[in-house]
Amino acid sequence: MKDPDCIFCKIIAGEIPSKQVYQDDNLTAFHDINPVAPVHILIVPNTHITDNNAFSPEDEPLAGKMFTLVRKLAEESGTAEEGYRLIMNTGKNGNQVINHLHLHLIGGAPMKHPMG
Ligand code: AMP
Ligand code: ZN
Repeated sequence: MKDPDCIFCKIIAGEIPSKQVYQDDNLTAFHDINPVAPVHILIVPNTHITDNNAFSPEDEPLAGKMFTLVRKLAEESGTAEEGYRLIMNTGKNGNQVINHLHLHLIGGAPMKHPMG
């Protein structure tokens, strides 16, 4: 499923440019345009899922694939050993800006993040 008004759907389809680091049939990963740390990669399902509140039991295999991809990208970006954060903002109070489910992989120092 694709939302014609969704910027991440357009990135996944290659309709607007991104610094893509990974793509397969299920997932796409690309560098965040406004990084808060030396490594800041967004991992997104190719299908338009608005947020975690729209995540369904049928999507469960996707979650596993996302975490396996996190591991791969953490290793490839050199942040696996020293550590990183995974953040999924959800909804208004979660400061979600783009309404296409995404996982932030944030690593390296310095890291600008309100959780300290
Ligand atoms: P969130 O607050 O979790 O919805 O975060 C959305 C993230 O998407 C922010 O960190 C933005 O910097 C990032 N972002 C917005 N537009 C783009 C884009 N065209 N390419 C890459 N990252 C983007
Ligand atoms: Zn989308």
